[in-house]
Amino acid sequence: MPPIYVTRPYLPPIDEFLPLLREIWTTRVLTNQGPFHQELEAKLCAFLEVSNLSLTANGMLALSAAVDAAALSGEVITTPYSFVATSHAAKIGQLEPVFVDIKEGDLNIDPEAIEAAVTPRTSAILAVHCYGNPCDVDAINAIARRHGLTVIYDAAHAFGVRHRGQGLLSQGDFAALSFHATKAFNTFEGGAVICNSAADKQTVDRNRNFGITEEAVVTSVGGNAKMSEFNAALGLVQLEHFEEVRRKRAAVDARYREALSRIDAIDCLAIPADTEPNFSYFPILVRPGFPVNRDGLHERLAAAGIISRRYFYPLLSNMAPYRSLPSAANENLTVANRIAEQILCLPIFPDLSVPDQMGIIAVIEDVASKASNRP
Ligand SMILES: *Cc1c(COP(=O)(O)O)cnc(C)c1O
Repeated sequence: MPPIYVTRPYLPPIDEFLPLLREIWTTRVLTNQGPFHQELEAKLCAFLEVSNLSLTANGMLALSAAVDAAALSGEVITTPYSFVATSHAAKIGQLEPVFVDIKEGDLNIDPEAIEAAVTPRTSAILAVHCYGNPCDVDAINAIARRHGLTVIYDAAHAFGVRHRGQGLLSQGDFAALSFHATKAFNTFEGGAVICNSAADKQTVDRNRNFGITEEAVVTSVGGNAKMSEFNAALGLVQLEHFEEVRRKRAAVDARYREALSRIDAIDCLAIPADTEPNFSYFPILVRPGFPVNRDGLHERLAAAGIISRRYFYPLLSNMAPYRSLPSAANENLTVANRIAEQILCLPIFPDLSVPDQMGIIAVIEDVASKASNRP
């Protein structure tokens, strides 16, 4: 049997994509805000309930574009519990990341810890809607307003998430999305920046194309972060399938919750109140009472051909470029350090079959039961 990976990218039937490819071959418009690019920006604005969205070549460049457009300096308060792109975006933007701890319940940045870390050098909060679960956006907004800080959300996990009856991605001054192959919505590679202000979108649009405003006018320093027509066309087709994909993932999520609720010392993260998730991750916490630790379960699953992922481990604060920062000290990040040792993401994707999923659950049940038979 081939291994079951933690995710398997969704692809629509190829026949749906071919007419759009033929159009590209006819028009020879390959990039530079072509018709598919413009159509995808408009459709994503409507779908995500936002006003200013700029497509980019990937999520990393989307984060960097937000940091750049925000024109920040000094320190940015951020979470150690994320993919490394988050703190790299701060560093690449010449900012010093200041790590603060996360909350036990949703594993998102803790607003009280943010408040305590604000200094005269702080210019922004860079938070992550971890696994697509909404940050405490009201508390973060209030702190930002009180101290005059910019709020940037790394929303790479949060495509299509709705919170309190509205799209989550309208929160903050900026939100950065990733459309990487492994994400809830993919264009192979791709991303987008959502700006609260139209003026910031103009800055992002200019800087993703070398700072060029008109044919012979360059007004700022910018790189190349443009999305091609190929990726935009793929996005248009993927968007038609997003709700169907979300429903299939939701069914996988529900089966895990039902089965795992019967296993001691395995905890699932609760679905937050008033939230419509995208179900693109299924993190579990392997608590101390379980017969093997997280790494032990990770290995047992791998031996059965099931590739789970320790996501997020190690913490960003324990990685070489960051571990010497004062804020990276373990005492400052006790919850994050504990969670990074217990977390394991189980396979979840729209076409994970029921028998395959039952096989995954059976391995976990087997490990759980063997221990209770121990003398
Ligand atoms: C995937 C991811 C990114 C980077 O996105 P790419 O499109 O791969 O560049 C950034 N932050 C988080 C939290 C991610 O999961």
